[in-house]
Amino acid sequence: MTVVETYPTLAEAARAIGSDAAYMGGGTVMMREVNAGEAPARLVRTNDPALAQIRAAGDAISLGAGVTMSAILADSGLDFLHPVARQIGSPQVRNMGTVGGNIFSPHPYGDFAVALLALDARVTMAAGGARPIEELLRGRDHSPGLVASIDVPRPAPGAFGFKKVSRVKPKGVSVITIAALVNRTGGRVQNARIAWGGMGPGPVRGAAAERALQGQMIDDAMLDRLARTAAEGLDPPTDPLASSWYRREVAGVHLARLLRSMEGR
Ligand SMILES: Cc1cc2nc3c(=O)[nH]c(=O)nc-3n(C[C@H](O)[C@H](O)[C@H](O)COP(=O)(O)OP(=O)(O)OC[C@H]3O[C@@H](n4cnc5c(N)ncnc54)[C@H](O)[C@@H]3O)c2cc1C
Repeated sequence: MTVVETYPTLAEAARAIGSDAAYMGGGTVMMREVNAGEAPARLVRTNDPALAQIRAAGDAISLGAGVTMSAILADSGLDFLHPVARQIGSPQVRNMGTVGGNIFSPHPYGDFAVALLALDARVTMAAGGARPIEELLRGRDHSPGLVASIDVPRPAPGAFGFKKVSRVKPKGVSVITIAALVNRTGGRVQNARIAWGGMGPGPVRGAAAERALQGQMIDDAMLDRLARTAAEGLDPPTDPLASSWYRREVAGVHLARLLRSMEGR
């Protein structure tokens, strides 16, 4: 049997988690573990209002870890995140599923985390301290602690794009997810950040694609080259959705399509 304990603050919830407990956000993934008899003996949650806060000061946006996908969609100031939140599950899942939970949801989930990785978000932990989400994602299987909030820099207009490739639309899970932050100077790409879902054990950066884009003007010849090389160095899984070989074959084509659509072509 699993017991659910609710604490008034995140700090108290964090203190209550021992070796026999896990944290529960919206519970869209965790409750499945409960139903399957695979959840720990204690689940710890909090109704701390700070977790549901969305704060925006200029181009700096802070999302409480308990902000739901529906809350993001209801906030017109977060329009660049709407294409991401809209593609996560069904309305019921979006009403309950949180940003913090998405960061820790296993493959094939984690679409929002892919976007946060491309956007170079920073994560503040309940225990204090902040770190780039890339660092947190690398160590997420080793109980890094509770996330309190996520700082997301607002991208320049048109610089951010998101694409989820799934077999069943509109709410199938992801075969491949791609998020791209493409800034330019004088028309040439500078320091692009490409993030993949479905191309590794969790959300990962696309180093080959980023290298191929650096300093380039985006035209058809460049995108064709990118499509051929984008998946180099990645080790996608084989699962019931797709084989590793298939993912590697099509990833670059989908990235090129995303970048073309960001160009309005
Ligand atoms: C039918 C269905 C469809 C789905 N479709 C998608 C989809 O299309 N795309 C997608 O990305 N996901 C999908 N999901 C997965 C899930 O709904 C989302 O990833 C959601 O954002 C998870 O958030 P949650 O708050 O419900 O997580 P929970 O179930 O509460 O927790 C998930 C994990 O995150 C940990 N966690 C939660 N909050 C924190 C925190 N603040 N700090 C540290 N750890 C934390 C928990 O301990 C747990 O390990 C789907 C789920 C279902 C059931």
